[in-house]
Amino acid sequence: MKLVSFQNAAGPVTPGIVAGDSVLDLAALGYPDTRAFIAAGRSGLDIATSALASSSERFLALDRVRLLAPLTNPPRIFAIGLNYQEHAVESKMKVQVVPTVFFKLASSIVGDGDAIVLPSISTQSDYEAELAVVIGAGGFEISGSDWQRHVFGYTILNDVSARDIQLATSQWTLGKSFPTFCPLGPWIVTADEIADPQALDIKLTIGGETLQDANTRDLIFKIPALIEYISSITPLEPGDIISTGTPKGVGLGRTPQRWLQPDEEIVIEIASIGTLRNHTIAQKAARA
Ligand code: ZN
Repeated sequence: MKLVSFQNAAGPVTPGIVAGDSVLDLAALGYPDTRAFIAAGRSGLDIATSALASSSERFLALDRVRLLAPLTNPPRIFAIGLNYQEHAVESKMKVQVVPTVFFKLASSIVGDGDAIVLPSISTQSDYEAELAVVIGAGGFEISGSDWQRHVFGYTILNDVSARDIQLATSQWTLGKSFPTFCPLGPWIVTADEIADPQALDIKLTIGGETLQDANTRDLIFKIPALIEYISSITPLEPGDIISTGTPKGVGLGRTPQRWLQPDEEIVIEIASIGTLRNHTIAQKAARA
């Protein structure tokens, strides 16, 4: 299943399931948003499955609605730093012994097709293609061997980063949390559709030029280890996002370094999930 948030004309933001060229309205089934659907767990998936098989449920034509970010109110966005060996090397940082975990603020989430606004106080905005895990069933001290019971699904996340702001301090959260710095989507693919999330090609292009081209098999800390580590400290909650880190090829690590400019189109593709497209624009001059 592909879980989305959509808007029909100027109507409310509505959770849905994409089915072919239509979308099933989950609000009509009692779920106010995608987080509520994720939190419902197995019962939500069962209700959606039977609704998808029924012609009496409420479907809308996909081409008549606008897809938004599939989850805008996750309890937390955990992001993992330096989780591919060659990216750690290009960043001139040590390969880590425990995962480097920071946060992105949910207020930075945008969806597929939305603009990434390049902040005027930074000259070093950068891209990071990442596989993001969406937690289903929560839990404290989850064993790595039990990880699959806690994953709702997977999506694509662009961990946009203002390097000059990020690296001015050891704390990375704010430099990665400007508005629009967390493109997410276009949907969350449920875990049953991804046989092995550790074997997915991940690729990022700008204006057709390939800048990142890797496979999630090269993650240093794999998804079971990340779930075990984070939940050993804080209980995971339904809807939490864990963004697993970016492979090599970011602008920071290139020679010469390559920073995002206005009017660039960034396309991230992850096999079995889909394609996330965003374009950059300059922040308007400060208010007069
Ligand atoms: Zn990242």
